Amino acid sequence: MKMPSAIPEGMLAPCGMNCLVCYKHCLSPRPCGGCREGGGQMPTHCRRCAIRACAKGQGLRLCAACPQFPCQPVKRLDRNYRTRYGVSLLENGRVAAEEGPAALLQREARRWRCPVCSGVVSLHDGVCSDCGAEKR
Ligand SMILES: [Zn+2]
Repeated sequence: MKMPSAIPEGMLAPCGMNCLVCYKHCLSPRPCGGCREGGGQMPTHCRRCAIRACAKGQGLRLCAACPQFPCQPVKRLDRNYRTRYGVSLLENGRVAAEEGPAALLQREARRWRCPVCSGVVSLHDGVCSDCGAEKR
C-alpha cells in the first residue's frame, strides 16, 4: 500500500491512533476501514475497544476533546504504545485537538512513508507494507 498524499481524517481513531499505519490496515489483503468506519478485518480488540465505544457514545471525534482526557484507559493504551512502538497516542491526540487532525496526519504521512518506495510503514512491526524494507 502506498502512502497517500493526505491520510483521510477518518483514519484517525479517537484515542490518537493512526489506523492507516496499523498492520491490519496496511498489510492485510482485506484492509480494515479503521476504527471509525469499521468493515474489512477489524481486529477483535478494536471491535471490543472500550475507548472507541466511549467516544462514539459521547459523540466525540477525539478523546482529547473530552473533559476526562486523559482517562485511565487512554493512559494505559498510550503507555503500551510508547513502550512497544515508540508512539505516544496522548501526544497525537493533543496535536490533533490543538492543530487539527489534518496537521497531525500530515506529520504522520511523513513519519510513516517508506524512504525506499513511498509505501506505508506499519507502526506495529516497522516494515514497509509495499517493499518490505524495515524502518525504525
Ligand atoms: Zn517500501
